Amino acid sequence: MTISCDWHIHSRNSDGGLAPMELAGRAAELGILDYGLTDHGDLPHKQKSLRDARREFLAAKGGPRFHFGAEASCMLQWTSDEIVAGRLEDSLYVGGPADGPLALDLSAEDVAELEIEYVIGSVHGPLCGVLEREPVIRDNFRQLMFIVTHPLVDVVGHPWWWIRGWKDADGRLTGKPWFDDFDVVPQSMHEEFAAAAIEHGTAVEANAATMVMSSAYTEKFNHQYLNYLAKLKERGVRLSIGSDWHGNPYGNDFAKAEKALATVGISDRDFWRLPPRL
Ligand SMILES: [Zn+2]
Ligand SMILES: [Zn+2]
Repeated sequence: MTISCDWHIHSRNSDGGLAPMELAGRAAELGILDYGLTDHGDLPHKQKSLRDARREFLAAKGGPRFHFGAEASCMLQWTSDEIVAGRLEDSLYVGGPADGPLALDLSAEDVAELEIEYVIGSVHGPLCGVLEREPVIRDNFRQLMFIVTHPLVDVVGHPWWWIRGWKDADGRLTGKPWFDDFDVVPQSMHEEFAAAAIEHGTAVEANAATMVMSSAYTEKFNHQYLNYLAKLKERGVRLSIGSDWHGNPYGNDFAKAEKALATVGISDRDFWRLPPRL
């Protein structure tokens, strides 16, 4: 069954390349019926990127199945306060109490004002300061739990994605923190996360570009990660699909992702979907 939705797409208004007005036609050509724009916010600039994205989204007139979303990052409340006070630039990961309260870089006021229809909440880096396997696992889990239980979040983006440190010389991720063996993350963490997703009605993303089909990982990790997604589904968690597209023009890696997901019994009918707007 062909994948017919894509809930994670960036435009030129944040760190992507495409123009929202060109997205609608391209999506239809690729068989994507339900989809949404999800640019990052930018706290120090009072969400200028999302404001610009909203304007271009409206100008695109993409029809009722093209939606306006946002991708929010988890950060320390301390960092958010410092940014708002003008004492810190937009660094999410420098300074502050490592175990201090967490925040999203998007508020309920932003969501209302910009008429954001859905929010992806993502971990985009470690807040724990110490780059060692155990603290990073605990830190990632703490952020995931904050996101999955957050009232503004509809979809948890790319769980257990990781970019900092530990890259091989060729840019691949085959070692720490969990790419050598995903089983180093305790099952109890996945269980607690899944239970919270169900309780809060939060979907969890199968991210085609960075998790499901990335060639940055070993075959073993890709296999373990697909099983992780299948286990979430089995526990009753709703999965979402996203290309995490940053390029221009719009494309996606869904042909490959579809094949991979099918090996663990995940298909288009399993995915979270927003209904067409009235
Ligand atoms: Zn992300
Ligand atoms: Zn993204």
